[in-house]
Amino acid sequence: MFTSRISLILAMLAVLPASVPYRTFAQTDRLGPKPPADPQIAAALTRISAQRIQASIEKLVSFQTRLTLSAQDPDSIKAGHGIGAAREWIKSEFESYSRACGGCLEVRTDSFIENPAERIPKPTVITNVYAVLKGADPENAKRIVLVTGHYDSRNSDTLDVSGTAPGANDDASGTAVSLECARVLSQMKFPATIIFLTVAGEEQGLNGSHHFARMARDQGWDIEAVLNNDIVGGDRSPRQDPGIVRVFSEGVPVAATEAELRRIRNLGGESDSTSRQLARYVAEVSRAYQTAAHPLLVFRLDRYLRGGDHYSFNQQGYAAVRFTEYREDYNHQHQNIRTENGIEYGDVLKFVNFDYAANVARLNAATLASLASAPAPPAQVRLQTKNLENDSTLTWEASPGSASYEVLWRDTASPEWEHAQPVGNVTRITLPLSKDNVIFGVRAVDGMGHRSLPVVPQPER
Ligand SMILES: [Zn+2]
Repeated sequence: MFTSRISLILAMLAVLPASVPYRTFAQTDRLGPKPPADPQIAAALTRISAQRIQASIEKLVSFQTRLTLSAQDPDSIKAGHGIGAAREWIKSEFESYSRACGGCLEVRTDSFIENPAERIPKPTVITNVYAVLKGADPENAKRIVLVTGHYDSRNSDTLDVSGTAPGANDDASGTAVSLECARVLSQMKFPATIIFLTVAGEEQGLNGSHHFARMARDQGWDIEAVLNNDIVGGDRSPRQDPGIVRVFSEGVPVAATEAELRRIRNLGGESDSTSRQLARYVAEVSRAYQTAAHPLLVFRLDRYLRGGDHYSFNQQGYAAVRFTEYREDYNHQHQNIRTENGIEYGDVLKFVNFDYAANVARLNAATLASLASAPAPPAQVRLQTKNLENDSTLTWEASPGSASYEVLWRDTASPEWEHAQPVGNVTRITLPLSKDNVIFGVRAVDGMGHRSLPVVPQPER
């Protein structure tokens, strides 16, 4: 049994010395289907540069503080101090990538005034900065995949407007991932649209992402996937595992309706939110491209006592996951820079592992590129339940641009898909498998082998 093997390994780990690598139980080494790699995407991954990521993080740290409440007046921007200067620099970076691809990126801001709240003492301008790489295929361009990180920072006091708050790991690292994905992927063309986002206000209460996600929902944006990178600097603490990045995903969707909750309860759908399908997709992509960052899927929304920008998107009903380094060092987050009793505090550059952040960026870029290359997930996926029978019949609507479909399934107790059955270019299939014993999914595949996100069928009587 896989579960008992995991508990055995965990029990062994509890007595192992700290020097033993923890990657022994990275799930992605053994489980699940492994789709083919696209050579163009694989080549793009080699262009992701740890040096560029290092330069971005160093630049972001140079603004001394990026607290959302810090200075954003013209003089401070000119002096390179405060969140306004960071914002303008991010904008200019996106613009330089766009110049390098013949104007392929549309650089935009989403700016608003946040009213006073617990961590916002007075009305404050919050600005999200993003770049849009519009899909090359008119039919698919309305589909969006998105990567984000928060460029604001904080120290011990979320209201300390002038104190140093380098935020090298939290979250210059995630911002650098968005930027580097933009730089490299803007050199390619994809059928669907990719958005490279950096938000502010995270440390004050997810304000930036909340505004952005609500705007997307209000304007009817078809966002298929959100990758939130927050604390992906691979802090160099002795027990870090630089081979693992955690991927958090919600189980029961926060945006589920009463009817959806009833269905989840009745049919055992607790582990099949769209966010969780996205997390599994990340694991498949990691296997396909043999990424150095192995995702450890964590089946919960976020860490204890913590939150992040993916939740803002979940609230609007979008699939969104969070990437975070394997082991956080709390002395190096949300702390004033100081040394106390020989312990160094502060989120400073020297604790960041730039190679690690680059590996996480490669996993993000591979996921974005795979999804943006793939056809749309099939719509109206249904599992026929009119009769009591041991076979299972699935139906769906054809997805534009797809050449064929795959039916996935797994045991109800398994974390990842265990089987992928190609079924050809059909929209109905009967399999000699009992729907009572497994969970099914259907995905679209194009002529090159790009896989869409899978869709778990709804029962149809
Ligand atoms: Zn953060």
